Amino acid sequence: MFRPVSIGILLCSLLSLASCKSKIQPVVAKPLVASFASALVVEEKVEAKPDTNLLTPEERKVVFLQKSGNHPYWRQEEAIHYDVRKPNYVIIHHTAQDSIGQTIKTFQIPRTKVSSHYVIGRNGEIIQMLNDYVRSWHAGVAKWGSIVDMNSCSIGIELDNNGREPFPEAQINSLMTVLDTLKSRYLIPTNNFIGHADIAPSRKNDPSVFFPWKKLAERGFGIWYDEGQLVAPPDSFNAIDALKIIGYDTSNLKAAIVAFKRKFVVRDTTPELTIYDKSVLYNIYKKY
Ligand SMILES: [Zn+2]
Repeated sequence: MFRPVSIGILLCSLLSLASCKSKIQPVVAKPLVASFASALVVEEKVEAKPDTNLLTPEERKVVFLQKSGNHPYWRQEEAIHYDVRKPNYVIIHHTAQDSIGQTIKTFQIPRTKVSSHYVIGRNGEIIQMLNDYVRSWHAGVAKWGSIVDMNSCSIGIELDNNGREPFPEAQINSLMTVLDTLKSRYLIPTNNFIGHADIAPSRKNDPSVFFPWKKLAERGFGIWYDEGQLVAPPDSFNAIDALKIIGYDTSNLKAAIVAFKRKFVVRDTTPELTIYDKSVLYNIYKKY
């Protein structure tokens, strides 16, 4: 059963959200607003012309919203209290590309099928490419704890960096600004600021060892161990269980260990846990 009124409200909400964004990022306001504005117009078009072959990909998304999510074989009544779902994780990436222009283009070419909500340049420029409330395609096949659809619950942030260079201070400062905004607006838990390699350790290595996770944790984004308070874990300590409890997918244990060490040990990313590595892991595990 179609629920055009509900969809209309949803799209209006998204449109007004996009408008709010325009106060912060006037540069991106136009495409965001245009995107949803055209969606609103399309709603009438769809009623008159149901042949989806004639619709643009964007118009098809509106048809999808109208058709899916409802189960017409069950009684349909409408509750009046709802809003849109909020992101609960932030995933940080490096682009592994050479320029911000290259990344923007990558996210606009139909065949690539990848995107992120934000791209941050080496000079600190912040570019919003998608509304926070829509599902960007940045995580790919990934798992964190029991969550297997990270795209549905997260915001993706790409840092313009080729993976072999440090992240400039201006870029990290801008990242902090974005993270501050997202954390306060969506009440994202401290531990839920993580990297792409955390959720896809077999496939990804971003952000690289140059990424300042400790600095982020000091500002309340992500977790760090208590330096100077490391102790050897007890004999009963199970390192694999600890990695799992933190969130790592240990089906490829070596990959999970490397991802953990790239982030917390940095100077050594071999796929074995030394006594020192275990003391770091034990310290972090106790925070969960
Ligand atoms: Zn990535």
